[in-house]
Order: sequence, then C-alpha cells, then structure tokens
Amino acid sequence: MAYIQFLGAAGTVTGSKHLINTSGDTTGKKGLQVLIDCGLFQGHKEWRQRNWEDTPVPAREIDAVILTHAHLDHCGWIPRLAKEGFTGPIYATAPTIDLCSVVLPDSGHLQEEEARFHNQKGTSKHQPALPLYTLNEAEECLRLFKPVPFGETKQLSNELSFRFAHAGHILGSAMVEVFLRHNGSSRKSLFTGDIGRVPVNSGAPGRVVYRGPDPNEDPDLLVMESTYGNRVHPHEDVRPQLAQLVRDTVKRGGSVVVPAFAVERTQKFLFLLKELMEAGQIPRVPVFVDSPMAIKAVEIFLKYACDFTEEACALIRKYGSPLEWPGFQFAAKQEDSKKINDIRYPCIIVSSSGMVTGGRILHHLIHRLPDPRNQVIFVGFQAPGTRGAIIKSGAKSVRIYSSEVEIRAQVAALEQFSDHADTDELLIWLKTFKKPPQATYLVHGEADAASRLQQAISSRLGWDVKIAHWLEKIALGEG
Ligand SMILES: [Zn+2]
Repeated sequence: MAYIQFLGAAGTVTGSKHLINTSGDTTGKKGLQVLIDCGLFQGHKEWRQRNWEDTPVPAREIDAVILTHAHLDHCGWIPRLAKEGFTGPIYATAPTIDLCSVVLPDSGHLQEEEARFHNQKGTSKHQPALPLYTLNEAEECLRLFKPVPFGETKQLSNELSFRFAHAGHILGSAMVEVFLRHNGSSRKSLFTGDIGRVPVNSGAPGRVVYRGPDPNEDPDLLVMESTYGNRVHPHEDVRPQLAQLVRDTVKRGGSVVVPAFAVERTQKFLFLLKELMEAGQIPRVPVFVDSPMAIKAVEIFLKYACDFTEEACALIRKYGSPLEWPGFQFAAKQEDSKKINDIRYPCIIVSSSGMVTGGRILHHLIHRLPDPRNQVIFVGFQAPGTRGAIIKSGAKSVRIYSSEVEIRAQVAALEQFSDHADTDELLIWLKTFKKPPQATYLVHGEADAASRLQQAISSRLGWDVKIAHWLEKIALGEG
C-alpha cells in the first residue's frame, strides 16, 4: 500500500520533506519514492541537528523531488540530499529554479563560512567543524532541476503523476497535486507548500504574485501548512507605520536595519521605501542592500514582473530597476559590506538572512543592536529558536558568533508583509473546495498554530483534520 511519511515540518515550521512511497508498483519493483520538498531545519537545535541525519530511506533510492518553492525551509536540504547520493530529477517551476540558482549556492557559502568561523575560534564540538554542504556542492545539484509549467501533468510512473497549481506565496510558488492510480481507482493528494495571502484586502504588501492560491480544489487527501493557524494579520496599510518608524529613527540620529530574505522580500521592501521617499514621507537617507546575491535577485524579480499584481507592476513600470536608483547601493562584495559598518549617519540597511540565522545581517546587528537610537524592523516570519525570534521577543541580548550582543535598539515587526495566509484567509480558501477531503493533515506549523487551525477547520467546516507527526506514516488508501 502506498504511503506518505512526514520527514520534516511536522511539529515545527521548518525542514519541509514529505516522502511518497508507492510500494506495490505494477512494474514489480519496489515502487516509486518521491520527496515533496527538501527543506532545511532552522531554529531550535533539536531540529537543526536533524539536518545532519540521513533520510529514513537512502537518498540514492529516492527517485525524484518535487519542489513547491525557493524558500530554504523547503529547498535548502537539496544539496545535502544530492551529497548523500540522490541523482534523480528535481521538478520545479521555472521561476523557482531561477531563485534556487541564487539561494542554494548562497546557502552553501554561508555553511562554509560558519564552519570556517567555528574552526578559527575553536567553538565547535566537532574537529574540524564541517559545512552541511559547500557552495560548489550546491551549484553542482542545480543541474538536476527540471522545469515543469503550472497546470501541466507530469507522469512519473504508470501510477503516479503530478501537476503544479498556483500557491500565491512567493514568485514561482506552487502547490503539488499528486495523482495516484491503483487497481483502477485514482486518488488525488494536494500538498499546499506555503499558501499565499488570499486577495481579500489590497493593503497586504506581502502579496506580490498575481495568481493563487487556486480555488476549487478537490483532493481526497490534503497536506496543508499551518504557519499562521493561530493568527490574523493586521489589515491596515503598512506604509504610514513604516514611514513613522523611519522618520523617528532618522530624527534621533539612528539607522534602520531590516533583516529580509534576499529574494523577493527585499525587492518588495525596496519598492515601498522608494514610493515613500518619492512621496516625501520619509527622508532620502542612503539605502544599503547588503547581500552577495542582491543584484542577481533584482534581475530575477524584474524578469518575472508579469507574474505580479497590478499594484506591483505599476511600481515597477514607474520606478524601473532598483539597481539604477540614486541613493540605493548594492553591496555585492565583502569589502562593500564591511564599509557599511563605519557609517555613522542615518541610513537604512536591508540584509539577509531574514530570520538572522546567518549571513551579513549578523555583522550589521552586532554593530547596530547596542545603540538605542537604531531601529530593527522585521518584515517576515521568525521561526522559534532563531536569532530573529529572540530579538523580536524583546530579549535583552542575543548570541551572535559566540558572544552576547546587547539589544538596546528599538525593535518592531510589520506583520502586514507576511507571504502566508492567516487563519481567516486559509478558511476562505478551504471554503472554495468542491468537496471536503477525506483526510486533512496539518504540517509546517508550531504546536499551538497547528492545533488552533485544527480546531478552526473542524468547528467551522466540519472536516476531519489531524496534525502530522515527525516520521509518521499515513496510508494512501484506495479511493
Ligand atoms: Zn515559504
């Protein structure tokens, strides 16, 4: 009997990996083994340690990966899977592949830097500390990626096929509809990946991609994310709030530091800053976009402008490429990045990683967190246990590079930027289903968020909903 096994993002938001095993394949072999997503665990150590463990089935016996989108918690373990022996195809949409070609090598680079740091300082239990994978290994696995357009059915074996539907989360993001035929009957499973904002209000700057989440689904089995299962995003326009934070910071002589995912989130944020500057609502202070992948990321963002909402397209038409804007500087090289540390006049620094798990943002925070004139603004989800979550929680200090950095800067979070549907929006989407799924499993949520969403769906829609557990196997029974 075919089954699904939850290898990640079960009991937590990161490390998305769902294994489909179709044992009983009519060809008489062991059957097909397909991974939906192959993400990094981030946050608490108990989860991060699992990045170093092998998959329950050998990587070389996994036939294919189907990838929903280019966030590291969904794609960041792919180079490790390849390192462990996986040689199969990785199916993804074309924009996702472009984004992965920037994000994965950068992730390898950060892994190497971290290992190098620990070896220099002797701060690791392991001698020597090793990277999970290197930049070269990440680049090497890019040749396995194969583009599949939205809506096209891809047959992987006699019995298993899949199709991408729009998820509306980030550029290229998809849900995966998996069709399993067995003994003459067919069952459809839907893996949502991350679900974007339902277009109920135009004041959600998190929403940039135009299409999705696609309505009118009809899966027999639903595997659904629950990141914001216990939250409702604020609906008011984020611009006045952002403008106020920037003005206040500049007035007291401080700088604004924004940890942001380098691809898409950073570009969206830049367009908002530009709009506010042009409208005279914030002063024209220098803006530093500090990420080695920033320039390439802008190019990908502009390449797919036709996938964006009318509002986002209008901003792109009006202002053109951020690479050309006066006062906006892109630090591609390490030396440029270091120079930003010496700047003593007010400026805005946008740098990755978005959850402060690594990257150049660490240096900026070491320099800027101890000064109460400065302002940190979070514009994305902070997984529990990450430095981002610690800073956001109001802690007095945070550990960066083996030392405690005092937090005296102001800290704010603008939840409107979220790329994830909140509870109300998830229910709006579920209500478009043609029929209730026979079973629904919640993944990609912390315990409280998943259980609150479970209650909301069962009480408001009457569906049978369960919370997925790590390593749990569920039968993909006959329909
Ligand atoms: Zn995501």
